[in-house]
Amino acid sequence: MRKHNFSAGPSILAPEVFQKASEAIINFEGSGLSVIEISHRSKEFLRVIERARALALEIAGLGDEYEALYLHGGASTQFLMVPYNLLQTKAAYIDTGTWASKAQKEAALFGETDVIASSKADGYKYIPKGVTVPTDADYLHITTNNTIYGTEYHHLPETRVPLVADMSSDIFSRPLDYSKFGLIYAGSQKNLGASGSTLVMVKKELLGKVTRKLPSMMDYQLHIKNDSLYNTPATFAIYVNLLVLEWIQAQGGLKALGLCNKTKADLLYNEIDRNPLTIGYANKEDRSLMNVVFNLTDESTQERFDALCKEADISGIKGHRSVGGYRASIYNALPLESVEVLVEVLKEFERRG
Ligand SMILES: *Cc1c(COP(=O)(O)O)cnc(C)c1O
Repeated sequence: MRKHNFSAGPSILAPEVFQKASEAIINFEGSGLSVIEISHRSKEFLRVIERARALALEIAGLGDEYEALYLHGGASTQFLMVPYNLLQTKAAYIDTGTWASKAQKEAALFGETDVIASSKADGYKYIPKGVTVPTDADYLHITTNNTIYGTEYHHLPETRVPLVADMSSDIFSRPLDYSKFGLIYAGSQKNLGASGSTLVMVKKELLGKVTRKLPSMMDYQLHIKNDSLYNTPATFAIYVNLLVLEWIQAQGGLKALGLCNKTKADLLYNEIDRNPLTIGYANKEDRSLMNVVFNLTDESTQERFDALCKEADISGIKGHRSVGGYRASIYNALPLESVEVLVEVLKEFERRG
């Protein structure tokens, strides 16, 4: 029996993805070889990475002005790779949480960073609105979904400078005008697959403008020139990525996933709001559809709640160490049924008092 996996990341993937990935480890598409033991320059793997790069852009609805890359080092390496390639004099950052703040800290090594808004003083419970973006900034960086606090942008900030987004925890979870972004990055391990690869989608015209010299592995243009194969990429992780992208398409794309994610989130938030024993963390209008963060109104009841979760085979629901409480991550691949089980547990928790 599988558990109900609410882990924040690495996190749940669709059963079809696990099935196909495990078959490919033994015998990749009937080749007599494992997907892990073939050359990244073999025609079999070239097909994988080409399809994955093309499909990522297709799902995002992005055209030829963009390139998709699969790079190493997680979203955390993008925190520095973005300023390496885009920050000439000054960049604007909106501070909506730990990850956003870490991104800004890295960028400060490369030039001036202007933190134009922050919700830190209020425990990152909301997304700052009505921000004014300096027109002389090289770009504006945002974190579209704040995994730890459970907030998400439902309206993008108005900006004339290129918009750069860390979408690690909400990429491909809803319809979105991706063409509003100059650069998007996401570590794979939440909505895209296994850990080890990072998807970057970048508008080519933004590159090649900084005057600093770039180390090869940090240079987006070099990776583009080498078809995302400058060095050995994370082959297995990219294969899993492709399976996830194909699964997204089979579900009906972002529109269908967006509806499903909304249904799951509404169900859970409604119960958290209704139940006198639980309270949501983030401000309502900024609530994340991916990470539902909540607390118990009486902390002394924690052990009882944990026991009920365990009994129901619920896993990975403990809150981030910096916030405490609980966090139910309800990514694309988490079935509605798992949310229903959690809602039932919350009701039972109330009944038992
Ligand atoms: C998980 C997460 C990260 C960290 O990603 P790594 O791949 O571990 O570097 C960064 N940003 C956000 C929004 C995340 O959710």
